[in-house]
Amino acid sequence: MPILAALLLVVLLAVVFGPQWWIRRVLRRHGVERPDFPGTGAELARHLLDEAGLQQVKVEPTEHGDHYDPEAQAVRLLPQHHDGRSVTAVAVAAHEVSHAVQHARGEAAFALRWRLAKHLGWIDRVAGATIVLAPVVFIFAKLPLLFALQIAAGVILFASEVVIHMVTLPVELDASFGKALPVLTRGRYLAPADMPAARSVLTAAAWTYVAAALATLLNVARWFRVFRF
Ligand SMILES: [Zn+2]
Repeated sequence: MPILAALLLVVLLAVVFGPQWWIRRVLRRHGVERPDFPGTGAELARHLLDEAGLQQVKVEPTEHGDHYDPEAQAVRLLPQHHDGRSVTAVAVAAHEVSHAVQHARGEAAFALRWRLAKHLGWIDRVAGATIVLAPVVFIFAKLPLLFALQIAAGVILFASEVVIHMVTLPVELDASFGKALPVLTRGRYLAPADMPAARSVLTAAAWTYVAAALATLLNVARWFRVFRF
């Protein structure tokens, strides 16, 4: 019986943290500096945006993960992707530019993803607060059932974030494989030898949000983030 429980725990940990671990490994492995590349991730993003007629979209560095911000109309890249020359920098830049293209074309799936993503903030806070406050409520109410319900509600709310990202996964896959990969192939921005690596990075980029939401389920430190405004 203890062996079965341990096995289940290992499987659970692999399912929850495995994807994020894999994504970090892919991005790091192909993030090796390549002095032979003609430009940085930011320079490529600028070029691709101009090619797509999106001169108004800015390219900025960020510390909060690579993303496209539709409200600010900005492609934001981590410093190592913004200023770096690597397969990861190139593929991530092309992926985020693809979101700007989805936005500019008014693609319905992108609009839906953006609307759903707006709810993630409050879901995160309510879920974290529900779990963190459960012991406090228990001290006063002394109702084990209420305690269990609170924990369950918090986990279900966190799980709904995974569902939101799963539902919008087609938008991420389109950015990587419907737009970024054809652009990189057609423009010959990478040597054929680097294309398999670029494919891996584009896969990782598409699954980033799902993997992060999965890790949230068991990330106890994150539950408490609700109190850090
Ligand atoms: Zn994306």
